[in-house]
Amino acid sequence: MPLYKTNAVVLGSRRFGDTSKIISAYTAEFGKVHLLAKGALTPKSKFLSALETFSESELVFYHKTTTELHLLSQAALLKSHLRLADKVEIFPFAAAACEITDEWIKGEEQNPAYYQLLVSFLNRLEMATPVQAPLFFWLFVYYGASILGFRPNLEACFRCGKKEDKKSYLFHPEKGGLVCAEDARESERYLKVSADLKNLAQSLAHSDFEAASHLESLPSDASGQAKLVKELSEFLKDFLLVQGVWKELPGSLGLGQKN
Ligand SMILES: [Zn+2]
Repeated sequence: MPLYKTNAVVLGSRRFGDTSKIISAYTAEFGKVHLLAKGALTPKSKFLSALETFSESELVFYHKTTTELHLLSQAALLKSHLRLADKVEIFPFAAAACEITDEWIKGEEQNPAYYQLLVSFLNRLEMATPVQAPLFFWLFVYYGASILGFRPNLEACFRCGKKEDKKSYLFHPEKGGLVCAEDARESERYLKVSADLKNLAQSLAHSDFEAASHLESLPSDASGQAKLVKELSEFLKDFLLVQGVWKELPGSLGLGQKN
């Protein structure tokens, strides 16, 4: 049984027997894994904070080939992200990101870009104001989906390639692209996209989470930001549901409810 060592973010855990727990973790080198942490619930456990949800830790585990539940050997805390659990305004967004990761990532497949995104997001969210938190979350969703192959293309008409300069655009959620007025068909359902959202999406496509979360491509006033974040969230929800990336929206944000 090989012994593996990797950095990981703890996505969640559940009790196992009286003194143990099973954790779900997104690792830098092995994708998502489930680990049995024997004795983790005893007061003297050496694991304690390293296995709390949102913690970034270095984990050492025995990798079993016969089952998907591996055996944790050691855990050392790198970063606790304790503030995420304490702040009611930002906790739901951290929980939703972990829930999404647990749903999106099915197996033990390495994806360094996704790992980096998750860690960057939790670090930025920990420092976020309540106004910034939803924005960071939807940027996380945008980049997470993009890394997994679902990037909406708001550059040009997907049928003819024409780039237009207008006040609003039509977006085809199944095709994942814009369509120009001449190529729009009555039988198809489109989302309406404002010029602001199109510009934002274009700048996001040429950036990464770390850079984008420094807000330079956003309106400077809070109400302008809130409006754009609302539009971005509605757009991503619709696009990702149609693409089948989500079966349903994360429960921890109450995103399933229409607002
Ligand atoms: Zn066209």
